[in-house]
Amino acid sequence: MEGRRVTLCAMPSRNVIVIDHPVIQTKLTELRDFATESRKFRALLNEIASLMVYEVTRDWPTRPRLVQTPLEKMTGCMLARPITLVPILRAGLGMADGVLRLLPDARLGHLGVRRDEVTLQPIAYYQKLPPDIASTEVLLIDPMLATGGSGSAAISYLKQAGVTSMRFVCLVAAPEGIHALHSHHPEVPVYCAAIDRQLNEKGYICPGLGDAGDRLFGT
Ligand code: URA
Repeated sequence: MEGRRVTLCAMPSRNVIVIDHPVIQTKLTELRDFATESRKFRALLNEIASLMVYEVTRDWPTRPRLVQTPLEKMTGCMLARPITLVPILRAGLGMADGVLRLLPDARLGHLGVRRDEVTLQPIAYYQKLPPDIASTEVLLIDPMLATGGSGSAAISYLKQAGVTSMRFVCLVAAPEGIHALHSHHPEVPVYCAAIDRQLNEKGYICPGLGDAGDRLFGT
């Protein structure tokens, strides 16, 4: 871990990696600014997602690959398993292009899980995953880990689909959300750019960045 700009958090869970790289933090601060309009918000969200990919995939397995350079043959390496990216609709879509920029061969599944605004409970309303998702590395993406309800429901769904290796990637996490997600799925690593103070009574992360979906899509 020496020299890496990541923080392994002892609290609230050991399986949380905060990527505190200064470039990511600069962009995240711009993203939080309420004056940042949709066009810039979209660009920043994708840029941060791209930058996070380096840390999120750092210990993925590779396999050897023989390559002929212009001078001689050598054994290089490549990612061992295919990749599936699963954005949780709808705000997760805002990170997809950024991740695909770094992992262009990844397949894209979609999971529609939204929070009921009154009960705050997750409701699944759309699922479309690649048929062989079980044999792939899965990145589940959603900018905000708030109550943890949608994330937990999405992980349960992916497990039912046979997925055994997945990582949850978000920008901002609430301690309550991490706790809820890990109380159901402690083995799933959570990667984020920040752990904020708390949820408010409406389920928003404070200080957070507001409603990521609304800011992303201008709704
Ligand atoms: N979803 C968001 O978009 N923002 C929050 O603060 C919480 C959930």
